[in-house]
Amino acid sequence: MNDERIYLSQPHMGGREQYYIKKAFAQNWIAPLGDNVNQFEHKVRNYVGRNAAVAVSSGTAAIHLALIECGVKQNDFVFCPSLTFCATCNPILYLNAKPVFIDSEIETWNMCPQALQKAFHQYERQGLKPKAVIVVNLYGQPAKYNEILDICDYYDVPIIEDAAESLGSIYSNCHSGNIGNYSILSFNGNKIITTSGGGMLLSNNEHAIAHALYLATQAKEDVLYYQHSELGYNYRLSNISAGIGIGQMEVIDERVAQRRRIFQRYQQELQCISAITFQEEIATTVSNRWLTALLIDPRQSNVTVKMLLQMFEKHNIEARHVWKPMHLQPLFKNFDFVSLEQDNAGYIFEHGICLPSASNMSLLQQDRVINILQDTLLRHQL
Ligand SMILES: *Cc1c(COP(=O)(O)O)cnc(C)c1O
Repeated sequence: MNDERIYLSQPHMGGREQYYIKKAFAQNWIAPLGDNVNQFEHKVRNYVGRNAAVAVSSGTAAIHLALIECGVKQNDFVFCPSLTFCATCNPILYLNAKPVFIDSEIETWNMCPQALQKAFHQYERQGLKPKAVIVVNLYGQPAKYNEILDICDYYDVPIIEDAAESLGSIYSNCHSGNIGNYSILSFNGNKIITTSGGGMLLSNNEHAIAHALYLATQAKEDVLYYQHSELGYNYRLSNISAGIGIGQMEVIDERVAQRRRIFQRYQQELQCISAITFQEEIATTVSNRWLTALLIDPRQSNVTVKMLLQMFEKHNIEARHVWKPMHLQPLFKNFDFVSLEQDNAGYIFEHGICLPSASNMSLLQQDRVINILQDTLLRHQL
């Protein structure tokens, strides 16, 4: 029996990455910046349709810079979803500002517009307003931006789109990475494309991106000696990493198609199991289906996520819980959480699971995952 390890999401090179790395070597432009970085920024910004971009060392760094550009300072509030990876909100703490966690809606699992509205009301009553709202597109699925943009426009608060998981996704003919005032991307090893580690901050505000670039290079002023008036960071992406990124951008559409195909296969093969519901792709959106994620309805099955994860591990398959919500994290327990009647983020965490979704997964590997789900869930149907 074939039982080699199946990974949740692993790098998938296009083939031309080493050509760009070699070019950097040939020019001895290993570090710090150089032609690859410029080209990579240009490619990504053109792909998503933004005016300006700065390539940085991680998606987390990009969020940090976006918050600074939004003017976030000590004791300011930033609204963000609870159901996300900690990198979305850690930079809020870097700035000694305060996250306010907003619950998810149950369709896309992203920030619930009604809960967002409720949070704005609650804070408005105390004469308060957030400095920024971070919106995440979980597992590639765009959030409900029509409603969210309306609310943020009304209160005149900038939106940071955390598109770390959603490069290649679309919302109403608009590429993810091109929504809101700022967007950030991640090229971490497990994302849909990777530079082995990296990120990008994008905006149509060229002035803000120029300032972010300056902050990302130690805020070194444009004079002949080393002079600094502002606190800077060492956040730029290396020319080698950017070379990998250029090669990866050549295959981004292929990667999206491959991930979507894997999702469709899971959906098709598991449709007979009524206890399973997949994260929804709502009208006018296309998800890159970075990870296939699903819920197991506890009223229809007594299979728990824990049981499934154990079963997968036994068969050398890496599956994962969905993100543990931030309002349930010890680190963030003292911050506010705003929800409607029930805690949707907590429910999705308790009953959700992410399946292996790497774009280079074979059909046989997909079968191994599908068989385990079918066997386990059909055996325990209520
Ligand atoms: C991966 C990820 C990030 C951070 O990206 P890094 O490049 O790993 O710093 C931010 N937000 C979300 C939702 C992510 O999944």
